[in-house]
Amino acid sequence: MSINNLFGSNVFSDAVMKERLPKETYKSLRRTIEMGEPLNKETAEVIANAMKDWAIEKGATHYTHWFQPMTGKTAEKHDSFISLTADGRATMEFSGKELIQGEPDASSFPNGGLRATFEARGYTAWDPTSPAFLKEDSAGVTLCIPTAFYSYTGEALDKKTPLLRSMEALNKQAMRILKLFGNTKSKKVISTVGAEQEYFLVDKKYYQARKDLIFTGRTLFGAMPPKGQELDDHYFGSIKERIANFMRELDTELWKLGVSAKTKHNEVAPAQHEVAPIFATTNIATDHNQLMMEVIQKVAMRHDLVCLLHEKPFKGVNGSGKHNNWSLSTDDGINILYPGKTPHENAQFLLFLAIIMAAVDEYAPLLRLSAANPGNDHRLGANEAPPAIISMFLGDQLTDIIEQIEAGHLNVSKQVEVLEVGVSTLPKLPKDATDRNRTSPFAFTGNRFEFRMCPSSASIAGPNIILNTIVAEHIRRVADELEKAEDFNKALKDVIMRLIKQHKRIVFNGDGYSQDWIEEAARRGLPNLSSTVESYTYLDKPESVELFEKHGVFTKHEVESRKEIVLEEYAKVINIEGLTMVQMARKQIMPACIEYMTSVAESISKIKSACSAADVSVQEEIVTNISKLLFDVRVKVADLEKEIEISKSIEDIEEMAFYYREKVFVAMEQLREPCDELEKLVSEDKWPFPTYDELLFRV
Ligand code: ADP
Ligand code: MG
Repeated sequence: MSINNLFGSNVFSDAVMKERLPKETYKSLRRTIEMGEPLNKETAEVIANAMKDWAIEKGATHYTHWFQPMTGKTAEKHDSFISLTADGRATMEFSGKELIQGEPDASSFPNGGLRATFEARGYTAWDPTSPAFLKEDSAGVTLCIPTAFYSYTGEALDKKTPLLRSMEALNKQAMRILKLFGNTKSKKVISTVGAEQEYFLVDKKYYQARKDLIFTGRTLFGAMPPKGQELDDHYFGSIKERIANFMRELDTELWKLGVSAKTKHNEVAPAQHEVAPIFATTNIATDHNQLMMEVIQKVAMRHDLVCLLHEKPFKGVNGSGKHNNWSLSTDDGINILYPGKTPHENAQFLLFLAIIMAAVDEYAPLLRLSAANPGNDHRLGANEAPPAIISMFLGDQLTDIIEQIEAGHLNVSKQVEVLEVGVSTLPKLPKDATDRNRTSPFAFTGNRFEFRMCPSSASIAGPNIILNTIVAEHIRRVADELEKAEDFNKALKDVIMRLIKQHKRIVFNGDGYSQDWIEEAARRGLPNLSSTVESYTYLDKPESVELFEKHGVFTKHEVESRKEIVLEEYAKVINIEGLTMVQMARKQIMPACIEYMTSVAESISKIKSACSAADVSVQEEIVTNISKLLFDVRVKVADLEKEIEISKSIEDIEEMAFYYREKVFVAMEQLREPCDELEKLVSEDKWPFPTYDELLFRV
């Protein structure tokens, strides 16, 4: 099939709707999509029918409201189109009501106290801004309708609802600024996102032989092989045929779903890869990233590979992240974060730049927590991903401009003139105004910001909710001020200068991995929140709640429930990891070591009885070393078990999560040490599960 026919072939896209819907219905739906006008019942009925016919023609028998509960995964409950007639025959039906709203019950999803199970009503509602699509595999074809998931009381139970709310907030505020700059054409401001996805592929047979990978998605034990990533020979290296075949099929499957997989390459660590789509509206980009994660895993299985999305599957080589490229665009295609060539737009750009600096600086802890999960705790600040300190990379050009603006009073006339007539005398910004800085968490890359902290396995909804909301808030403050100003140009200049002065500390262009930066950041008063549990204490601070409520993104109740869900999940993840370690140590590592040691000991007595003068010191050394380490393992296993027991008994969820972080997590690290040492001593064929060698280099 040609790419033209293939791309989006499983999407009820705009083109399909235009073709299949009556003109009036189509127009009315466009108004809903573009301007957020409510959809009326009759229109929904017509759309549902057209959607059903299209899906059935393509082989669908079932439909599902596809939603994104707070697990960060996607969920679906399948219903068939089947309906019975009075005379006992079956027809295929799908009503407007079934399209628009569902009640999946789904009371077992985490809700952080928003929904007691006895009042378990939860609804899914069609999000017409994200197109319906077909999931097609050997099990059949299902029509998937992207939906928001919320409770009887209207509280959000998912990641999509607050994301949509944050997009609305941003639109509302940003439009005010565009108006002030005399833009009468643009009707809407949207945030755009392109998420680069990193992942590992391991051979299925090795995966299946490791309990830790199966239960936790990462290796809890494992000694480094002689070779890791030090030669950098994997990064951008030629792609092996097996992997290339997988990638080709992955592209095909993604394209069918309208996911514009664009670039793919080998990443830094062995067996690590990346795929990136072309950017889209945040909402669609988020849906597409969820689909991407799902499809990578599914296609990998078809190639006897397993995709690991975990942030840190292997100790000693780089883990995986997700780069969230984020920008602001108008409905008529103006990228607001493109510095541009015309002075007029430059002034607007500088204002937005100053606003974003202010937002990122003031709300750094929120941005930090939006990228927190248990897996990412291993990466941030470990010299493979940005540090846990939020800062902004602007590059030489922009930094220079900012410094000039800050020093404005030195050449007042010049600067004033600049800002009054636009910014014509400011240095021209080259198209790619920035070089690269791989160590910065939030880097300007020419026409967008790249938030580089995000966890590979998590939804990008969280980071974008925060980004949209904190920027909306700072735009609001500026718009309030500028709308009242008598002299717009003067007020504009003052605002830009003030924001830059106040928030310049957030700009850092140097090496984010260095110890110097950690110290410098502390001097600047920038927070350094090293873990998920620590950063989440900021989510429900009064100023955070105020921010979310002001922009209608979260209610206080929703904020509290989300914090509870994350902390509870954190505790559960560490608990599962801890228990898996205990089991692997007790039931696999210790017995294997004992068996090997016994065989060596037997060899000592056999050799001695055959020849009493023979030197058996090598065997003795092996036995001694192994038994020493084994004793250590026994002690550490017991410690870990004890800490897990204590954690479980803690009632307060925050306290519990902290205990898991501070005690269980540490006890796990301590148990790993002697076990990894043992792996180096025990004969390869006796070691009870596949090693890093097999996982990383035998794909
Ligand atoms: P790099 O590896 O240099 O970071 P990639 O090409 O791998 O670059 O990824 C860049 C990502 O940024 C792509 O997903 C791309 O579509 C996205 N992107 C480009 N322009 C914008 C924009 N205006 N808004 C959001 N994302 C963008
Ligand atoms: Mg990138």
